[in-house]
Amino acid sequence: MPVKIERSRGTCSLCSESFKAGTTYTSRLYVESEQYKRVDACGVCEDDGKVNDGAVAEWKVKVEKKKKLVLSESAIWQVLKNKEDPELSTRPLTFILCLMLARKRKLRLIATAKVKGKEYQTFENKSRGVHVKVQVPALGPAAFHQLQQEIETFFSGDA
Ligand SMILES: [Zn+2]
Repeated sequence: MPVKIERSRGTCSLCSESFKAGTTYTSRLYVESEQYKRVDACGVCEDDGKVNDGAVAEWKVKVEKKKKLVLSESAIWQVLKNKEDPELSTRPLTFILCLMLARKRKLRLIATAKVKGKEYQTFENKSRGVHVKVQVPALGPAAFHQLQQEIETFFSGDA
C-alpha cells in the first residue's frame, strides 16, 4: 500500500491561521492505520492545549522568510528512540530515516540478516543509545524514491 506524507500547508491544522514569517509552529507526526498524519499547530492552539497526545515525533519549525529546507534531526531521533512503538522495526518510515542518518554518518549499518524471506538491517549509534533492527521495506525503486522524498520534505521546515 502506498505511504503518503503530507507537506506543510503553511497554515495551522487546528485553526487554519496562516503561519507568519518569524513565528514558530510545532509539527507532530502521528501514525494512523498505516498512514502518517501530520499536524501543524500554531502557538495559540498549542497554548490552548488543542493538540492530541500520542505523536511519534514532535518538533518546532521556525517560519523563515526565504524558502529553506532544514532537516530536523531531533525529530528523527525521537522516532528511532521511541521504545513504545511496537511496530517501529517494520515501518518503512523507520528504514528510510535510518538510511538518511546513515548517509549523514550519524548511524552505522552494523548487520544485515534474512529471516523468513524478509531482509533486516541493524543500525546503531552508540553515543545516542540507538540500536534499531529494521525490516527493509518491500517497495519498488520508484515507490521507494517517492517515499524517501516525502519523508525528507516532511522532516524539514519548508514554510
Ligand atoms: Zn492554530
